[in-house]
Amino acid sequence: MRTQVGIIGAGPAGLLLSRLLQLQGIDTVVLENRSRGYVEARIRAGILEQHTVDTLRAAGVGARLDREGMQHGGIHLQYPGTRHTFDFPELCGRTVWIYGQSEVVKDLIAAQLEDGPPLLFEVSDVRPVDVDTDHPRIHFTDAEGNAQVLECDAVAGTDGFHGVSRPLVTAGTGGRVWERTYPYAWLGILADVAPSTDELIYAWHPDGFAMHSMRSPSVSRLYLQVRPDEEIEDWPDDRIWEALATRMALPGWTLETGPVTEKSVLPMRSFVSTPMRYGRLFLAGDAAHIVPPTGAKGLNLAVADVTLLATALVRLLAEQRTDLVDSYSDRALARVWRCTHFSWWMTSMLHRSGDDFDAQLQLSQLRRVCSSEAAARELAENYTGLPLE
Ligand SMILES: Cc1cc2nc3c(=O)[nH]c(=O)nc-3n(C[C@H](O)[C@H](O)[C@H](O)COP(=O)(O)OP(=O)(O)OC[C@H]3O[C@@H](n4cnc5c(N)ncnc54)[C@H](O)[C@@H]3O)c2cc1C
Repeated sequence: MRTQVGIIGAGPAGLLLSRLLQLQGIDTVVLENRSRGYVEARIRAGILEQHTVDTLRAAGVGARLDREGMQHGGIHLQYPGTRHTFDFPELCGRTVWIYGQSEVVKDLIAAQLEDGPPLLFEVSDVRPVDVDTDHPRIHFTDAEGNAQVLECDAVAGTDGFHGVSRPLVTAGTGGRVWERTYPYAWLGILADVAPSTDELIYAWHPDGFAMHSMRSPSVSRLYLQVRPDEEIEDWPDDRIWEALATRMALPGWTLETGPVTEKSVLPMRSFVSTPMRYGRLFLAGDAAHIVPPTGAKGLNLAVADVTLLATALVRLLAEQRTDLVDSYSDRALARVWRCTHFSWWMTSMLHRSGDDFDAQLQLSQLRRVCSSEAAARELAENYTGLPLE
């Protein structure tokens, strides 16, 4: 088999990269080790920055997002007794959209299977080789059990945090990893109940952080700060609803409850691996970096990476010019670190560490960001996503 760009992983990063390259006349093959059903059902991010929406529309996969997505002009930030609303259009002229990552992935897969390049599910033993030459190859076993070799001009490692690409880049470049593990996790639920709020609620509370998000007019997504080693069995639905109601309580406001359809504990970490390139192997998305979900940045960063990478690969493969692939890692990492800082900052401001001195600092920061237009604008600009280069 031969293609111009071999793409490992059919998450949002790999699928969108394939789509962007297809639109520029570059051939790709996407290799995914899970089934289509598994990939489409994975419940993850749900907030799209303005640039992500613009990119999906420009790539011709924004029609359902425009019909079913929910445009949001702000968030509520809460601490006991106060629920402050941030008006994003007024503060920075941008908005965000609520549209589940699983829906983005479904739209991209449908487009690719309809008129796009090959997308192979349920492959195994994926192994990129010779990535430090101009003729990298990917060895893999296809869904029928046949050993295959995909010859490429470049390889995109969009295989997420547990993929095979990052270790090759680290080993080949003597790269470096920066990491922070937080002493808490999120217990997230999906519930069949209309959201009890117009905008997302981010709530600081002495018992710990709570968040009210949504997926549609009839489906709510809610989170509670818990210990990282928390057993999900210790959280029957009643206990979850009670804790959510306590942590987000405000006079005159009621949290509506409904059947819980999904429940999981998500660890929280910040992780950045540099550089994002080794020879003709390029990392993008979670393969290179992870942020805690508080800033809603993971999916959006993956989109920003592949937007840069697509332009760089077109320049390399269509014009034989290396300037943009040579600067790809540094340019991508500039945004990665900005988002890593913002995600760390939101996380640190809103989660209880158990230290009462920290709690006073958090409350001071919350009062500042809710009362100063300059501080609010800084939050709004980062939350809605800084414009792409
Ligand atoms: C449980 C969870 C909840 C999250 N919640 C949020 C949230 O609320 N808000 C937010 O902003 N972000 C959230 N994120 C982060 C966000 O979902 C990710 O940043 C986003 O999925 C990154 O996309 P990606 O394509 O880079 O990686 P992924 O979505 O991880 O895709 C990688 C793909 O590669 C495949 N793969 C892996 N190894 C191989 C291999 N060897 N061969 C072939 N294929 C392979 C995987 O099966 C997967 O399909 C969450 C992440 C997780 C894990």
